[in-house]
Parts: sequence; structure tokens; C-alpha cells
Amino acid sequence: MSPKDIIIEAEKKGVRKLLEHYYDLLDAMKAADIPSFNISSSELQDAIDGIKRGRYVLKTVKLPFEPDGKEDAFRKAFLMNLAKGLNGLGDAVNKYWENGFCPVCGSLPSLGVFGGNRDGGMSLVCSLCETQWNFRRLHCPFCGNDDQKGLGYLYSEAEEGYRINYCDKCKLYLKIVDVRKKGNAYPYPIEDIITLPLDILAQEKGYKRLSPNPLGMVMLK
Ligand SMILES: [Zn+2]
Ligand SMILES: [Zn+2]
Repeated sequence: MSPKDIIIEAEKKGVRKLLEHYYDLLDAMKAADIPSFNISSSELQDAIDGIKRGRYVLKTVKLPFEPDGKEDAFRKAFLMNLAKGLNGLGDAVNKYWENGFCPVCGSLPSLGVFGGNRDGGMSLVCSLCETQWNFRRLHCPFCGNDDQKGLGYLYSEAEEGYRINYCDKCKLYLKIVDVRKKGNAYPYPIEDIITLPLDILAQEKGYKRLSPNPLGMVMLK
């Protein structure tokens, strides 16, 4: 699926303007020549040790900016670079990381994915750096609720291959991309944008999302 095909698809769904904004952002990052992050083997080991203790990487590895500072495009680009540059981290994450927040930057997930990893299970996608990590099914990633009576899901017939998982304990929801049903998926930031109708559906039912989508939107009503 080329960017052009994605735009055509987005046009059908009426979100072309939003997508253009996203591509502008990517172009700006490229033009600004975001530096790549070279992590040393001892820093990598520190990061893996941190992950084993349930600490995300930015709690362990020193960065040239304040991780808790205001979010901007450069910070995001830098984090994405960091996440990609952390070779050897994936195995540690899949073996030890059981949290509902990102193992690299500590942000909350923006999407869940079924069947998008090697074992075909459930994984989460970070709303900031796009790191993807395995997560237990039938658990709320936000509050840890595993009482099945308080967990449910919504479908939209117009959006095949997607669903919304919601939690009645914390009243939050997570959009799920079902790669097994869809066959493949767009890049996850694009998936987050083209599924705006699902955000509206969930929010009409009174559920909320905490992590903004790639355009910085949380509430869509
Ligand atoms: Zn992250
Ligand atoms: Zn919850």
C-alpha cells in the first residue's frame, strides 16, 4: 500500500485533510535532519536491566532533552529513532515487560493489535514513539482490570477488522486493529487516524482515551 493509495483510502473516509497535516509533520522532521541516536552496549545493558525491573528505557538511559518536557515533533522523532536504534531490546521487552505503558518512553498506548506479532497474540503500540510490545489479552492496559464482567468491546459494521475494547472500571477504551481479519495494516499512526469514527463511537458511549492520536486529538466529539 503506497502513500498515494492511503490518501485515496483516507479521502473515501473523509479524513484527507488530517492526513495531509500528518505528512507535513513528517516532512518537517526530515527537513530538520533529526540526529540518530547511537546507544552504547553498556547503555543497552542498563536499559535491558531496567526493563527487567519494570522501568521504561528513558528512566534508565540519559537523553539530551528532558523526557518530561513539552511534547514536540522533534522529541517524537528522536524517540522513534531511539526505539528503532535499540537493537536487542525486543527480546527483553517480550520476555519481561508486562506493563500497559511503553517500555521505551513510558507513554500510554494509542492502539492495540491482534496478530501483528510473531506469536499472533495481542500487542500494544506506543502513542509517542510507536514501539510495539506484547500484552496479555483480557486485561485493561490502563488500570489492570482483569474482571471479565467489567471489560467489553464494541464493533462498527462499517469498520471491519477493528474493534474497541473498553473498561468499565476506568472508563477508558483502546482501539484494536485485527490484522488476522484485515490481512495487513497501514502504519499505526495512519490506522489511528482512519479509525476516527471508532473514537466517536466509543466517546458517544461515555468512554475516553488518554493518549492523543498523531494529530494531538483526545476528544473527538
Ligand atoms: Zn513509547
Ligand atoms: Zn481499566
